[in-house]
Amino acid sequence: MLSTQPQLLRLSQGQLHLLEICPRQFQHAYLEQLHSPTEPERQEYRELGSRFHLLVQQQEMGLPIDSFLQAEPQLQTWMKAFADAAPEILASATDSYIFRESEHYRSLQVQNYLLTVVYDLLIADNQKAQIFDWKTYPQPPNQRQLEQNWQTRLYTYVLAETSDYLPEEISMTYWFIQSQQRPQIIKLNYSTAQHHQTGDKLMQLLSKLTAWLEIYYCGEDFPQLPEGSKACQYCQFAKRCQRTHTNFEMTSAVKSFQNAVDNNLLNLASIQEVSLEKK
Ligand code: SF4
Repeated sequence: MLSTQPQLLRLSQGQLHLLEICPRQFQHAYLEQLHSPTEPERQEYRELGSRFHLLVQQQEMGLPIDSFLQAEPQLQTWMKAFADAAPEILASATDSYIFRESEHYRSLQVQNYLLTVVYDLLIADNQKAQIFDWKTYPQPPNQRQLEQNWQTRLYTYVLAETSDYLPEEISMTYWFIQSQQRPQIIKLNYSTAQHHQTGDKLMQLLSKLTAWLEIYYCGEDFPQLPEGSKACQYCQFAKRCQRTHTNFEMTSAVKSFQNAVDNNLLNLASIQEVSLEKK
């Protein structure tokens, strides 16, 4: 257990998601950094996805990527599919944009927490700000699931709070590179109503987290889910929670979720924040 209470706890969308799903999972995964060893196949796939993100970032910066593509046929296939489907996204910046940056980092302090986001690409002009995110999952979730996902909620919320764009001027577009033959695009427009809902939800969740942390630093664990909860069936901490009578087999949905969680435990500290103002 941690011995001292941190002044400002950094939280990403993955950690908010975990906190909402099960506070005890948040404790084990985030505060105590407990993880099962990653299966080699999953680890390899995750690294391939990371390399794809890096390649898009390099291309965005005008750096050569051909030698990397030749060495990795899967990346070549994904980049070609992406370039065919989204030439305007991969095109160089034009004068019509006032801001364009890949791997754009932003943070927002709420209560004692630093909410952090990293956009794969952010493009903004006088009227709108567009967040883009690339996914290399084979199976995209539906639009409703994406809207409810903490990545969508936090990414749009932080941008609205840290820029002078109205929620209605902000959108978030997901590119599912590996889906079927062509990449699938899902664009979600943001709104003032959603912004208020997310703000309210954040306040509730962070207030609960503060209360749970207080008891945690006094030696008590975060709350568990009730006995028999479905989430326990696939949880890597089931044994620790004495829920081992449940099924341990991890479904693909749970693997995707765990991937998202793991990906969000990246060290974001080295990425610089850039101000974004409309002209
Ligand atoms: S086994 Fe259940 S209660 Fe325990 S951490 Fe996992 S989801 Fe939460």
